Amino acid sequence: MSDCLFCKIVAKEIPAEIVYETGRTVAFRDINPQAPTHVLVIPKAHHADAAALAEADDGLADDVLKTAHAVAVQEGVADGGYRVVFNTGAGAGQTVFHVHAHVLGGRPLTWPPG
Ligand code: AMP
Repeated sequence: MSDCLFCKIVAKEIPAEIVYETGRTVAFRDINPQAPTHVLVIPKAHHADAAALAEADDGLADDVLKTAHAVAVQEGVADGGYRVVFNTGAGAGQTVFHVHAHVLGGRPLTWPPG
């Protein structure tokens, strides 16, 4: 989508600190990190949110989750515990409507989230 911020990151039209990439996914550091590790994992294909990704029915959601796990291992937070979050819909705090998994770790994470 030409007006999508994260599609522009996929196309390398705007800069991002990419930490991991596969054929169908990209992972890059969040510009406003909420934890020592805060990486966003996205499918390269545009889907608005996690619900649309789930309905894509092509294994892409699986790829995103596998990339999230690979990022956690690469960042060294897998053993200490990390969180994978999909804010889904404006009411849940989603602000960028290209589905993304937040991978957060490197500090104690409290529950429930705000
Ligand atoms: P959400 O509120 O769940 O939609 O998350 C969107 C996330 O995208 C926020 O954590 C932002 O800090 C992050 N973000 C926005 N623009 C950029 C960008 N250009 N590069 C990296 N992260 C971004």
